[in-house]
Amino acid sequence: MSRYRLQPSPAQEQVLLEHCGHARYVWNLAVEQHSHWKPGRKTAPGFAEQCRQLTEARAENEWLRAGSIVVQQQALKDFAQAMANFFGKTHKRPTWRRRGRGEGFRIVAVKAGDVRRLSRNVGEVKIPKVGWVRLRWSRAVPEGVKSYRVTRDAAGRWHVAFAAIPEPVPAPGTGEAVGMDRGVAVSAALSTGEMLNAPGLRDGEKARLLRLLRKLARAERGSNRRGKVKAAIARTRAREADRRKDWMEKTSTGLARRFDVIAVEDLKIPGMTRSARGTLEAPGRNVRQKAGLNRGILAAGWGRLVERLEHKAPGRVQKINPRYTSQTCNACGHRAAESRESQSRFRCVACGHQAHADVNAAKNLRDTAAGHAVAARGGLPLGGPANREPQRDLLLVR
Ligand SMILES: [Zn+2]
Repeated sequence: MSRYRLQPSPAQEQVLLEHCGHARYVWNLAVEQHSHWKPGRKTAPGFAEQCRQLTEARAENEWLRAGSIVVQQQALKDFAQAMANFFGKTHKRPTWRRRGRGEGFRIVAVKAGDVRRLSRNVGEVKIPKVGWVRLRWSRAVPEGVKSYRVTRDAAGRWHVAFAAIPEPVPAPGTGEAVGMDRGVAVSAALSTGEMLNAPGLRDGEKARLLRLLRKLARAERGSNRRGKVKAAIARTRAREADRRKDWMEKTSTGLARRFDVIAVEDLKIPGMTRSARGTLEAPGRNVRQKAGLNRGILAAGWGRLVERLEHKAPGRVQKINPRYTSQTCNACGHRAAESRESQSRFRCVACGHQAHADVNAAKNLRDTAAGHAVAARGGLPLGGPANREPQRDLLLVR
């Protein structure tokens, strides 16, 4: 996804807000239908049935009919995807959407001429029922845009994100593999010894955010001042998120360019962040530490980084079962929980090998994948999972 700032006129903004309202309304109807469902009852309506109901609802309600059917149908499709994610146990159950929070809608079947550049920094995108809306052409819009999502953040800024899978980055062809272990103190450690750090807020910005949060706690509910403080907080957080996103794109492209095979831990992020179990094989000493680990994982956006890597290096990302990778010595292969001295220190109780704990784990990941790395030069790794190629169609609708 590449995101651009939208600059709608006040009149256009009204229609965009209506689209958001329709998407939210349809989504909430779907949530309600499914919330009545209990085991043993007739199944809750699926996407096809809901589309039929939507047609009926549009026939009966003038205000709904006045809106875009694409916006409304896609809200149902988003909901269907959210339910599939829920049943696939990768996400929580979809919940109600509230006005002003995570507002947005999606447009599909975008045609080639629907996005165009007007001048160096200005472009425009055609949005159903709105017309051409200006956007800040902050970087090249990817080729072959099939769909886009329009969102409004808590600070009231509009963005458009074009869904196009990035072109795969060519492999260097050296047969070299790298292991990448997610860290806590750093975002990721490479088997080469490099420490990758996702940028966050600078010290001055952090201090300012703290001041704002204190102000917010004191501000009266519903007051003007409170609204202003909230918007300032949202802007700061958005800046932080933008920086991370940018870092993630650069990092994933760099890794795809430098290495033939990238070995990462195979971990299910949503479950991991909820319980923190199985993250540190040295069993948890105390809960505070785990809470910190949870925050660290979320902040590092690990799942997103791996996803981008898979887009840019299709078939070259190896997901390795991380079991014991943090307590096995990379020098002698001895496995002992006591070798992991602390969060960051590894000292082998058998051979005395010392290393940064995350780098040691990254090397274990790399070596586990190494057999595949050799095979990857000639073609598909033998015995590797068969479904590693990204499914382009599925990715496009997200
Ligand atoms: Zn050892």
